[in-house]
Order: sequence, then structure tokens, then C-alpha cells
Amino acid sequence: MTASPRQVTLIPGDGIGPDITDATVRVLEAAGAPLTWDRKVAGMAAVKAHGDPLPEATLESIKRTTLALKGPLETPVGKGFRSINVALRKEFDLYANLRPAKSVLPGNRFQDVDVILVRENTEGLYVGIENYVKVGDDPHAIAQSVAVVTRNGAERIVRYAFEHAVRHGRKRVTLVHKANILKYSQGLFLETGRKVAAEYEGRVAFDDKIVDACAMELVMRPERFDVIVTTNLFGDILSDLTSGLVGGLGLTPGANIGETAAIFEAVHGTAPDIAGQGVANPTAVMLAGCQLLDHIGEEARATRLRAAIEATLREGRMVTRDVGGTATTAQYTDAVIAKL
Ligand code: NAD
Repeated sequence: MTASPRQVTLIPGDGIGPDITDATVRVLEAAGAPLTWDRKVAGMAAVKAHGDPLPEATLESIKRTTLALKGPLETPVGKGFRSINVALRKEFDLYANLRPAKSVLPGNRFQDVDVILVRENTEGLYVGIENYVKVGDDPHAIAQSVAVVTRNGAERIVRYAFEHAVRHGRKRVTLVHKANILKYSQGLFLETGRKVAAEYEGRVAFDDKIVDACAMELVMRPERFDVIVTTNLFGDILSDLTSGLVGGLGLTPGANIGETAAIFEAVHGTAPDIAGQGVANPTAVMLAGCQLLDHIGEEARATRLRAAIEATLREGRMVTRDVGGTATTAQYTDAVIAKL
């Protein structure tokens, strides 16, 4: 059964963004995804058109559609421009950052990685409460950064991780922390996480790991992990680590999810060195498109599209340069569509 179409704000982005988002729209349409697109600009494209990297019309569109698929954006350096990603995260309270990492490339060091990292996206050490303390003549003698963990914030992110596990048939959630040293902030995260976990007993297994031990185990036995949930800074670091385990950022999508909106994107940037050449790898944005389908309850279609992408990558005949092939973005996209 096909649901009535959902409108999605489409932000093509800068550099390779327009090529890889076009490719993604093509595969989503070929998969029969019930989506229509409201094209809006952000990043340098928006600076050129409107003198603002995040125009009001783009925000309005996301408010209305509650869904966005976004290409990478060049954040203009200096001149007081705000960080677009931070502004979007704040505006829509996108508290959950979801980064799946799965082995697909043949010959990759790890063949059995299939981990979903759920990072708390709004609290922790990234709340921006920082200051210097002057001692004697030195105005920067001491620097302080405050980590803020709230019970509500911890509860909603851990619950999100468990709900995701239930919906996607995942077996275990691992909460990663440093509560042995940071007894208050990390301690509250762990304590709250344990309470939420108890509600899922018998349905989803739960364990917790200290972040340093977790980092070591991730590079030694990554196949043991299923869903990881953690605070902002640890999630930032570990999600790049898990991307690295499966072949790098070019294959990794990221979803930013809140109660009132969700934004799906690739983890990589605008790749200015290959922009305009038609050779960029669109896989990460295509997989972000699959996350979007999951999010709107189109899991079956998402699974079919993921299978087509993975089969094309595994076969290795029609893949882009960055993963050892010679295909253009368009040729790779055609190959994925042929597999659907
Ligand atoms: P980058 O990810 O753009 O590029 C790093 C390297 O990876 C380059 O060699 C590039 O060619 C390659 N690469 C990246 N994506 C690829 C793809 N899909 N296919 C093939 N090769 C790919 O990182 P950078 O050079 O540090 O950043 C460039 C710009 O992107 C900066 O302006 C930065 O601010 C922006 N950026 C935006 C986002 C975002 O919008 N989410 C994220 C990261 C960086």
C-alpha cells in the first residue's frame, strides 16, 4: 500500500551537493517513494542568492514539511555567519543524531560491522557554557567548560535508542559513559539510562561501557556492538570511529531527529576538490534518504533501496573513484536503479 505523498524540504547544498542530492532524488523516485520536494537553499548557494546562509524561507519550509534532505553546506568563514548545522539543531531541537555504520565494501578490514550510534545532540559539553578565569596578569590562566546533562535530555535520548532498537529488530543497546570519573553529569546519564532500560527488559538487552574501554573494543571486535547510545562529545568522536570501521565518511549518512522535525544528510562535506566533475559518490546521501523512509514508516522501501545500494557496491563494477571504481555519479546511480 502506498501512503499519500509527504513533502520534504530538499536542500541541494554546495560543492558536490547538487549532484549527489539529484542522484538521491532519482533513486528514491525509482523506488516509488511517496515523496514530493520543496527545493530550498542554504549555505553558500543561499549567501549568493539572499546574503544569508540560512534564509527564513528555508526554515519556514522545514517547519511546514517537518522533514528535510540536505546536501553538504559550505559554512562561510568569518563575517559573523552562524554555523548552519548548529542553527538548525537549535531551531528544531534535533536531539538525536543517528549514525549507522555497516560493512558493505568487499576487502574492507571488518566485514561484520552493523552498528547504529545514537548521539545526544543538544546537551553535554557542547552547550557552550565556557569561560576564562584571570589569574594575576594572565586573562586566560584557566579555562572552564561546563557539561550539562538533564534527566529529561538523558531520558529522551535513551528512550529514542530503545524505540529504534524495537522498531528495527535490534537486540542490544549499549550505553557509553564515563560515570566512574564524571560522577554527576555522566552519573545522571547512566542512572537515567538504566531506568529507561528496565522498561525494555526482556525485549532489548542492555549493557553499559566506559567510553575508553568501548573505544578499544570497537576497533578490536566491532561486530559485538548493535545500538550504542551516548552523550554529545563521546558520540561525536565514536561516530567518526564507527564510520572509519566501514570505509570512511563517504558511505555514512546521519539523521538529526527532534519532536517537530527531522533532517537527513551525509556526514561528509562539500568535497570542493571534486565539485563539478560528476564523479562524487552519492551513497551517503542515498542512505540518508533510506533513513528518511524509515522515519516516515516506509521501512520496506528503505530496505529495498539499501539492498540495491549494497549490491552495487559489493559487485564493485560500477562504483565511483573514491571506492576504487571509475564510474561517474550518474553511472553509479543508474546501476543502483537497475538493481531495484
Ligand atoms: P569533505 O568531506 O568535503 O572532503 C574530504 C575528502 O573526502 C575530500 O578529498 C573529498 O573529495 C572526499 N569526499 C567527501 N565526500 C565525498 C563523496 N561523496 N564522494 C567522493 N569523495 C568525497 O571535507 P572538507 O574538505 O573538510 O570540507 C569541505 C567543506 O564542507 C567545508 O566548507 C566544510 O565546512 C563543509 N562541511 C559541511 C558539512 C555539512 O554540511 N554537514 C560537513 C562537513 C564539512
